[in-house]
Amino acid sequence: MQEGLSHPKSQFSSWFLEVVSRAGLADLRYGVKGFIVHLPPAVQAMKAMYRLYEQELERRGHKPYWFPAVIPESCFQLEKEHVEGFAPEVFWITQHGDQEELGEKLALRPTSETGIYRMFSLWIRSWKDLPLKLYQSCQVWRHETKATKPFIRGREFWWIEAHDAFATREEAEKQVLEDMEMTERVMHQEFGIPFIFFKRPEWDKFAGAVHTYAADSLMPDGRIIQQPSTHLLGQNFSKPFQILYTDEKGEKKHVWQTCYGPCIWRMLASVIAIHGDDKGLVFPFKIAPVQVVIIPVSQDTAVIKKCKEIYEKVRERFRAELDLTDRTPGWKFNEWELRGAAIRIEIGPKELQTKTLTLCRRDTGSRLCVQEYELLEEIEKLGEELTQNLIKRADEWFSSQVQDAKTLDEVRKKAGKGFLRVPWCSIDEKGRECAERLKEQFALHVRGVRVDKQEKPEGKCIICGKPAGCIVYIGRQY
Ligand SMILES: [Zn+2]
Repeated sequence: MQEGLSHPKSQFSSWFLEVVSRAGLADLRYGVKGFIVHLPPAVQAMKAMYRLYEQELERRGHKPYWFPAVIPESCFQLEKEHVEGFAPEVFWITQHGDQEELGEKLALRPTSETGIYRMFSLWIRSWKDLPLKLYQSCQVWRHETKATKPFIRGREFWWIEAHDAFATREEAEKQVLEDMEMTERVMHQEFGIPFIFFKRPEWDKFAGAVHTYAADSLMPDGRIIQQPSTHLLGQNFSKPFQILYTDEKGEKKHVWQTCYGPCIWRMLASVIAIHGDDKGLVFPFKIAPVQVVIIPVSQDTAVIKKCKEIYEKVRERFRAELDLTDRTPGWKFNEWELRGAAIRIEIGPKELQTKTLTLCRRDTGSRLCVQEYELLEEIEKLGEELTQNLIKRADEWFSSQVQDAKTLDEVRKKAGKGFLRVPWCSIDEKGRECAERLKEQFALHVRGVRVDKQEKPEGKCIICGKPAGCIVYIGRQY
């Protein structure tokens, strides 16, 4: 028998590391802290995730670009807050060959605003060039000092960054809402990752942004994981970068900008964490590295022949594997469950006799007998049902993870399990001190106020006792 995982999912951090290695997602032995080798199942899942996200971005008018991975120091320094925010994490390229210093230091992009916006200043001339909406799918590098974890926090990660420029503030604000819609459309409805969008407090904004809005999801251990954020940059970059357009009256104006950063790498972490179970990985059907696995339940020549025939048929439409190794069927079932194959087709003498096929679903383990001629449609249907079931399960769990806490005593009792909804003085600068105390005393972070609904403040700030000006959500974060 193939041995299952040695950690149940309830021991989340050990389970997570074990499943990443055992299911063959990544090899962690590369030997450079924060850098991992991505193995085929991780690459296949991430490519499928990229495709869905890119389609959505393009449907909404974004064009794909590839910018260089390096940003000259002079560009990187242009927006003051941005530099201060990112400087400690930047990898710099300073020399080539043995000793030769570069004329100008080059930053290995930690994010591309400063590289992309210098080009905006060359490309944008008139109101006719606006809006300019683009994205790139790429790696970025940040020298993280906290403990690194595969797909959760690394010094190299894979994401998409979308950068948009508009003639007016109103259009930029609308883009922020569109970014939130895309997050719902793809991250929730396709990947099954539930989230709440928050307006971040003043002290926790993206370096250089006017406002930051971020989607927070949860890990099974109750800790918060930040997913995409979208930023209203206002004219904070267009001024130092001189991104000007001439309006219809011939007047020169600075553009209004937004940026949005869905991190596919981190989304894979949420997919693994939220949908996985004690047996291993579970993927929504569209992004499963192996959508269908075919396993013969006997070594009979006619059975093997049938398996090959079905495999050829299935692989034309789905990512499929045929397991003809000499392991026992039971071993193979466990192995492919560990790897998260969405649907298993079992073929044996019984199936040959009745001219049917047995399909088994990864999420529920339920079996279904289908006729061969309807196989592809049935796989499609079953895959969709599986995805919908994962989303429903995730949503139910997620909504049970929000609790109210009206006093510090309640916070103390409930801390660390999901979101706590608390009365708070302010998410402007005024509230910063309270947030710092909350972090020091309880290691809890203020995530901000919800953007999907207005919540009426009641009671007193749990820290300073002043009348509450808002309701914020707090929790432990990754
Ligand atoms: Zn306060």
